[in-house]
Amino acid sequence: AARLCSGAGGEAEAAGGDGAMLRHLARKLRASGPVTVAEYMREALTNPGQGYYTRRGGVGESGDFITSPEISQVFGELIGIWYISEWMAMGKPNTFQLVELGPGRGTLTEDILRVFKQLASVLSKCDVSVHLVEVSPKLSEIQAVMLTGGKVQPNPKDDFAYMKGISKTGIPIFWYRDIQDVPPGYSLYLAHEFFDALPIHKFQRTEKGWREVLVDIDPEVPDQLRFVLSPSKTPATQNFIQPEETRDHVEVCPEAGVIVQRLASRIEKDGGAALVADYGHDGTKTDTFRGFRNHKLHDVLSAPGTADLTADVDFSYLRKMAQGKTATLGPIKQREFLKNMGIDLRLQVLLQNSGDAATREQLLHSYDMLMNPEKMGDCFNFFALLPHHRLVHPDKKKTPESKSHLPPVAGFSELLLK
Ligand code: SAH
Repeated sequence: AARLCSGAGGEAEAAGGDGAMLRHLARKLRASGPVTVAEYMREALTNPGQGYYTRRGGVGESGDFITSPEISQVFGELIGIWYISEWMAMGKPNTFQLVELGPGRGTLTEDILRVFKQLASVLSKCDVSVHLVEVSPKLSEIQAVMLTGGKVQPNPKDDFAYMKGISKTGIPIFWYRDIQDVPPGYSLYLAHEFFDALPIHKFQRTEKGWREVLVDIDPEVPDQLRFVLSPSKTPATQNFIQPEETRDHVEVCPEAGVIVQRLASRIEKDGGAALVADYGHDGTKTDTFRGFRNHKLHDVLSAPGTADLTADVDFSYLRKMAQGKTATLGPIKQREFLKNMGIDLRLQVLLQNSGDAATREQLLHSYDMLMNPEKMGDCFNFFALLPHHRLVHPDKKKTPESKSHLPPVAGFSELLLK
């Protein structure tokens, strides 16, 4: 099963684990008091020794959750086509960097690179390189095996990458811990199920004003964590709650905001585009923080470090954090985006080419997972950052026909087959 979208229900499962992360957190909480949900989430997911992604990184069927690229090759293929289509619409620059944030097992990049190989004649004069931003040593190893067959050089001296290699299709691949280490230049960015893994702050409106939800140790039960409310304002309540906020419970992910600001600045300066795909909402949902373990909902405070923790992406916040440096498109539902990208046609071709009934069955099943509104079709969204001149011709800003000279952005409007 895929990670359920928030509100999809189900009983949370509590589970054990070896308790090392819990002991570490309990010591910290006893010594210096409660921490923000963001700090808790960061520790649980990316603590260098015990973090969930650092040690387990459970993407895939045998892990804790499965993602669209792991469900169907068609997903990555259509995204590969989106990048080529944007690169062409922007006048085929002679170099481009594909930059993926949080590549998981590397499956999505692998599928995209297969498309680049199939369309090699289109890309022939272009110098393509791949740049992966990944904090997990365990997952970067899995990515290296998937993409290069394991032939990588650790700690290359000549750049900021912590690892580099060459893809099976001959394209150079570099690994970084932070987007800021990726060299500048025309880049196409990808963040699939990345922003939902970044730490959120949680807030509640009270009679005395906004308070932050904190994680504390339960004084009654040894080594059991609990949520408490901050007794007064915190720096985060003052910085992250908008005066016009109408909800009573709010989640904010400042790290996502910082990354979107960086993406928008880079796209404004060097050109390119960013495609963000994730479950989320447009500034309307309230309590979406949840955990997954073995494909089941998991109590977020139980056995930290052994389960995936996640929260819906607030696309309205991402749009705001682009600060007008780029244009934004979406969020648009996954099933609409994939339909606009031609998934039905691609499915037909694959069905015609597959000889056996089991493969056809599998193709139809994975199509249903990606597209069914009850499954991943409705709650996953696509969102893009694009240079302003990609949507409105700079000379023709004021004339109503200005858009007609520019090719439409694939996926975000209906596909017209000429
Ligand atoms: N995109 C993949 C994997 C999603 S899981 C897919 O769709 O299958 C989230 C990914 O983000 C993992 O690779 C995880 O290790 C990585 N990650 C989580 N926090 C990160 C951070 N702060 N910086 C970089 N990568 C991070």
